[in-house]
Amino acid sequence: MLPPIADRFVAGESADGAVAHVHALDDAGIGAIVNHLGEHYDDPADARADTEEYLRLLERLPATDPPATMSVKPSQLGLGVGEDAFRDNLDRIVEVAAATDTFVWIDMEDHTTTDATLRAYEALADEYDGGVGVCLQANLRRTPDDVARLADTPGRIRLVKGAYDEPAELAHRGGAAVDEAYRDLLRRLFAETSVGIAVATHDDAMIDLALELGTRYDRDCEFQMLMGVRERRQRELAATETVYQYVPYGSAWVSYFYRRVRERRENLRFALRAIVDSVAGR
Ligand code: FAD
Repeated sequence: MLPPIADRFVAGESADGAVAHVHALDDAGIGAIVNHLGEHYDDPADARADTEEYLRLLERLPATDPPATMSVKPSQLGLGVGEDAFRDNLDRIVEVAAATDTFVWIDMEDHTTTDATLRAYEALADEYDGGVGVCLQANLRRTPDDVARLADTPGRIRLVKGAYDEPAELAHRGGAAVDEAYRDLLRRLFAETSVGIAVATHDDAMIDLALELGTRYDRDCEFQMLMGVRERRQRELAATETVYQYVPYGSAWVSYFYRRVRERRENLRFALRAIVDSVAGR
């Protein structure tokens, strides 16, 4: 069982917890993006095992409104083993997902993986007529070119600020520069592309800009946030907008949880209070 520290951010160690959480989100009118935690595999057997896990998950995802989706990491599907291994595993998942009309997101990892990830996305978006989406990171200096490259690819783009510490020659450093890049990319997505737009941020300034751009360009978008982060805001937004929550599960929760805590000291205080409460039986 997950300790109280982690269960705010992770839906459980097995798919049972994830499926239960998808139902709970459905009651709140929020869609799920389910991710089985795992990354950086060097052994093809590990990548295959996670692929099998996603195939089993596909059989169990409940029908919800908005429909539940999945998100996979390239290094989890074997990119570290080789691009062919990654593509084989991803192809299997997307083929089965397409048969059940389940949308598959491809997370974006550090800059060394961007080209291979975009190649896989473009091939599958064409083959499955937009049944897949990819994440683009505002902190990377290359991303305006990637938006232009993907402008007419049938699929969806999830715009994030970027979670990886990248070298300064490749990435904007510092909150203000990344925020400015995020704003610029949002404008480009709405004004210059025909893709589905997913605004993945907890930042109200970016959310407000996306709402304004949606009105200006008469285009819909979806909003995405993480499990355990600004959940009240997620519910408020879901009253009028399409909202999805990223729902990680699996036994590899420690590094994911550490990342969330590192992002925000308040989460550590929350975690420590939860431990004290559980020890005190409150
Ligand atoms: P920030 O400027 O970091 O935060 C804005 C405000 O949000 C903060 O002031 C605070 O109020 C709140 N907030 C942010 N984080 C937390 C937190 N942990 N706890 C409590 N409050 C918080 N990155 C990738 O590189 N690749 C991916 O594939 C990827 N996929 C993602 C998918 C989703 C659905 C989301 C929401 C994020 C994803 N990210 C991904 C992470 C992203 O790059 C950022 O690191 C993360 O979202 C924090 O940035 P922010 O836009 O929320 O803005």
